[in-house]
Amino acid sequence: MKRKPLELYIHIPFCKKKCNYCDFLSAPASKPRRQEYMQALMAEIMIWSGAAYDGHEVKSIFIGGGTPSILEPEQIGTLMRMINIYFNVSKSAEITIECNPGMVNKDKLMAYRAEGINRLSIGLQSANDSELAVLGRIHTWADFVATYNLARECGFTNINVDLMSALPGQTLESWTDTLKKVAELNPEHISAYSLIIEEGTPFFARYGELENTDIQPCGKPAVEDKAAEAVTENADGTISAEGAKLITVTDEMAAWPDLPDEETERAMYAATQEILAAYGYNRYEISNYAKKNKECSHNVGYWTGVDYIGLGLGASSLFENARFSNLRDIEIYKEAADKAQLPTDWETVCHLKVESKIEEFMFLGLRMMRGVSRKEFERRFKQPMDAVYGEVIAKYKEMGLLEEVDGWVRLTAKGIDVSNVVLSEFLLDVVYDEPVPEEDDFDVEGALTKAYEEMAAEAGEIPADETEKE
Ligand code: SF4
Repeated sequence: MKRKPLELYIHIPFCKKKCNYCDFLSAPASKPRRQEYMQALMAEIMIWSGAAYDGHEVKSIFIGGGTPSILEPEQIGTLMRMINIYFNVSKSAEITIECNPGMVNKDKLMAYRAEGINRLSIGLQSANDSELAVLGRIHTWADFVATYNLARECGFTNINVDLMSALPGQTLESWTDTLKKVAELNPEHISAYSLIIEEGTPFFARYGELENTDIQPCGKPAVEDKAAEAVTENADGTISAEGAKLITVTDEMAAWPDLPDEETERAMYAATQEILAAYGYNRYEISNYAKKNKECSHNVGYWTGVDYIGLGLGASSLFENARFSNLRDIEIYKEAADKAQLPTDWETVCHLKVESKIEEFMFLGLRMMRGVSRKEFERRFKQPMDAVYGEVIAKYKEMGLLEEVDGWVRLTAKGIDVSNVVLSEFLLDVVYDEPVPEEDDFDVEGALTKAYEEMAAEAGEIPADETEKE
């Protein structure tokens, strides 16, 4: 049977300490609370199996967070064994776990390898200890080097390092120093994003008054106007952001250095490509660089529209034409598992219209340096690319921001610099993701509920005739 490719994302929402810029769904938690969460996660894995085992083959797994490496090796072992039982995992699947420097030891790394995890993604962000301190990271450059070397000793041959530019107090020199120091270590993959000031974080309280600008260096969306307004409204030094506590700017925060100016940011952006190319890294996406054949297959799947299931708190999924997310409150998430219910937030379930799929194909596909294939567009959407985007493509080709090679449309070097503007023109004016199922669409709630009931009936928890009555 030909199986459809599927990706799994598993969210571990725990960290030792919250970083100053972070708005991810993560927080510190005690060992017993982490274990309770893992039990709820196992329940979710079992329920999903009914809908996604047959007909799908898992091509990649990404265990992210948070800091998954905060878990005990036994917990990761149980997680991996459950996934292998309840999903059809390809023998050649890329299986990544995120870890933070200083949060792994030899036992953990060897356990990861024994469970089939074949890729590490290490969150370094900067090689400069002062910059790391302002970010609120719990590690130093030396901690990172020790973790990296240990991972190599333990046999990891596929390692990604996450870096961030445009940090407070960062200069062009310190950024290029970070790039060179990391590239010297020769990891297979480097992700290099610009810092984004997110609402509800200490960084927003300190730096959120940034002006909105139309064109920011690639990969960095402009700070929203509403974010700036929130600061103005609270002139007493506090901010209010949805779902976040008021954060007061302390003396320590006030002493944090300023962000680099726009010109420096642009210089950093240009230096990234230049330096990494000199060390043999191929830029295959706006912010991602890899050695030959070491592109992250999980991310490439996401950018090319492969179905994915997000397991765990707040995780998002794209499955059989439907997009939806899990509950974001950990207590309610666990309650759902206790009651043997799915932890999906049903209000988020949206069935994609064809226009949504078209714009996503272009919007995400053009982030990749190879661009988008006209042939693939036609195969998926039964019409030529020019029928939808003829004018936009012609306009940007003329401006030198897009080019075409062997039937692939892609951004030029100049186009990458203003990619936010170019990509926004590929958005179609549609009512996005209508929450109304179309007749032949996959019924997520129905399919998962049925799968769970069948499984529970088999285990003798619900009499089979009762499930039929419902
Ligand atoms: S380690 Fe990562 S997920 Fe955790 S607080 Fe820091 S940035 Fe956020």
